[in-house]
Amino acid sequence: MSTVYDLSFAQLAERLGTWGEPSFRAKQVWSQLWKRAATYDAMSDVAPALRERLAAELPLGVEVLDERTADRGGTRKALLKLGGTHVIEAVLMGYRDRVTVCVSSQAGCAMACTFCATGQAGLDRHLDTGEIVEQVMRAQHGSPQRVSNVVFMGMGEPLANYDETLRAIRLLTHLRTFGHCFNPVSFYYCYAADGVTLDTIVAEITNTPWKERHSYVLPVGRAERHGRALRWEFAKAFHVSPFEAMERGYAWRFTAPGDELRVHMDVLDGVRRDFDATLVLERQPLTGPNLARVLRRYPAMTLRVVAAIHWQAFLIFLRQNPVYDHPSTRHAGAPTRTRSQGNLPR
Ligand code: SF4
Repeated sequence: MSTVYDLSFAQLAERLGTWGEPSFRAKQVWSQLWKRAATYDAMSDVAPALRERLAAELPLGVEVLDERTADRGGTRKALLKLGGTHVIEAVLMGYRDRVTVCVSSQAGCAMACTFCATGQAGLDRHLDTGEIVEQVMRAQHGSPQRVSNVVFMGMGEPLANYDETLRAIRLLTHLRTFGHCFNPVSFYYCYAADGVTLDTIVAEITNTPWKERHSYVLPVGRAERHGRALRWEFAKAFHVSPFEAMERGYAWRFTAPGDELRVHMDVLDGVRRDFDATLVLERQPLTGPNLARVLRRYPAMTLRVVAAIHWQAFLIFLRQNPVYDHPSTRHAGAPTRTRSQGNLPR
């Protein structure tokens, strides 16, 4: 049976599609697995029935049996059980400038190096791709810093398990998975069972300096209609930028996806508009030349987005705009510039 970390994004999307799940679900599950290193139990934005099915048909392959820490938590050694049978080890090592995970590529080893206890025990079996990858994800799960390096110096000789090791490296370094991909905001258009009636829009926002995520759920039934546009007005509930206060309101307008898609966001200070942003997109067929054009036009999209955000932040800073702390860093009793969480549309 495959474990879920054996699958590429396309394979996971295909599997969920055969289960009748909408296309955005694959991105949701993928993001939980690869960005948060979450177990199924912790995927609070995935329905319990789907979590159960995933656990039954695409299980996680690695169970943490025991963990020991040293260097005041900087080094963590884990004893891991594979598929309920073989036991392997992985070690996480935190340094000032990097976090390295040492993973196993085999249960046991056939090389029989005389100085090595693993070699004396002989080879039990090769690890498959998912079992190699999941060691990194389990290590990431308990680490406050992002894992930056992976070495294959745990149990086993990686070159003796070449194909699975290579696939694991490809998955771990893919831009979509453990590489760098940053979307300040993602919009999900959720349709009713008939596939044509827009039911809800979900705006998933990531804040740049803190790497937190928050979703605003906007049911179409509670929107004001302005021609083709749907409008929601509600209080800000998530600290997005150090240059924007929490005491703000939002007025967002969306059109439903068609040949054109429009999104307009106003940030309101009372009735005064503080900031606004507009996105206008035109539908293009998904063809080879069009995809090649996008690649040529945006060769390093994530780098551009991150650079643009920091450049704009620098310009705002030069204008001596006030800087607002993250609400969680404010000390008790200190003056606060935020109010309690706003009323979400739902
Ligand atoms: S795990 Fe490494 S050191 Fe140990 S026997 Fe295998 S190749 Fe040799």
